[in-house]
Amino acid sequence: MKAVCWQSANEVRVETVPDPKILNPRDAIIKITSTAICGSDLHIYGGYIPTVQKGDIIGHEFMGEVVEVGRGIDNLKLGDRVVVPSTIGCGHCNYCQRDMWSLCDNSNPKGWMQEKLYGNITSAIYGYSHLLGGYAGAQAEYIRVPFADVGVVKVPLDIPDEKLLFISDAIPTGYMGAELCDIQPGDTVAVWGCGVVGQFAMISAYMMGAEKVIGIDRFPERLAMAKKYAKAEVINYEEVNTGEALKEMTGGRGPDACIDAVGLEAHGVGLEDFYDQTKQKLRLETDRPHVLREMMVACRKGGTLSIMGVYGGFVDKIPLGAAFNKGLTFRMGQMHGQKYMHLLLQLILEEKLDPSFVVTHELPLEEAPHGYHIFQQKKDNCVKVVLKP
Ligand SMILES: [Zn+2]
Ligand SMILES: [Zn+2]
Repeated sequence: MKAVCWQSANEVRVETVPDPKILNPRDAIIKITSTAICGSDLHIYGGYIPTVQKGDIIGHEFMGEVVEVGRGIDNLKLGDRVVVPSTIGCGHCNYCQRDMWSLCDNSNPKGWMQEKLYGNITSAIYGYSHLLGGYAGAQAEYIRVPFADVGVVKVPLDIPDEKLLFISDAIPTGYMGAELCDIQPGDTVAVWGCGVVGQFAMISAYMMGAEKVIGIDRFPERLAMAKKYAKAEVINYEEVNTGEALKEMTGGRGPDACIDAVGLEAHGVGLEDFYDQTKQKLRLETDRPHVLREMMVACRKGGTLSIMGVYGGFVDKIPLGAAFNKGLTFRMGQMHGQKYMHLLLQLILEEKLDPSFVVTHELPLEEAPHGYHIFQQKKDNCVKVVLKP
């Protein structure tokens, strides 16, 4: 089959690789009909995620058709149309049982590496490094889905892929980002990053009762999307000082909750950005925490920070004093897809949510290298690339 294989920093290639096979009774093989490039795939593309190796198949947002099942699977049959969550959960450990699927004890067979670095083992994610399991990714014609009896959601045949695909990753990530804010009626929620996760975090914040949602970015097309579809007020951080603008928009208090939908490749301004960029290049700091710093200072006293942008390692110059003295609450983590997917599918079926507005580019799988390039460089107003195998 054809698959998108990582080569080195800023280089992917579409290569011919062996088809996946059933390895365990609870496996299924899915023929992929749509797969997306996620903002967090750009961290891999850019060479920022450790333990990604040359030749690894990447990608974790996907849907398709069941073409083979293991003998332990009785809830799926050939021809079923399914969406699969990006985090892999066994369904039976204490964490999966408590709906904290991305903390699964059993899905990461290479957990020893993670245990050394993080102290514990978390769930695996498709195509997201050997640290996170080493599973083959989804930017391919076929994929092996482990624990398929608990890890897939059947979807109707008569709704286009573009409406359903994002319940695999981007929508539940945004939704969980808003849920972690414990939004109260009347709250103002500020969202850093108006990419796809940011858009769904903003929409979710309104669904959960926020009175005002503010989106922060520097790309006009993303800010326009946030205004039009997420009904957000917006800040272009290259035009105004974000902290001052937020104060002005919140009567001098700061937002009640702040969501980070950017993660480890955040861009700052001025000297601070130079510091992070340099330290990251020298590998003295793995992640650039500009958004975290800004949120800690901008948030109102007693507010909540919800971190959904991906971080992998170590950060520097964190204003912990601000966070401590202001009594901030920090909540974060990889999303628990299986917890939210049925609810989100229901919203789509009831036409309360139509996520297809985020798709700016649809390309054949063969053009993945071009897709990565324009997405990384934000060329051609690129917000979301869907690949069609
Ligand atoms: Zn993702
Ligand atoms: Zn589990």
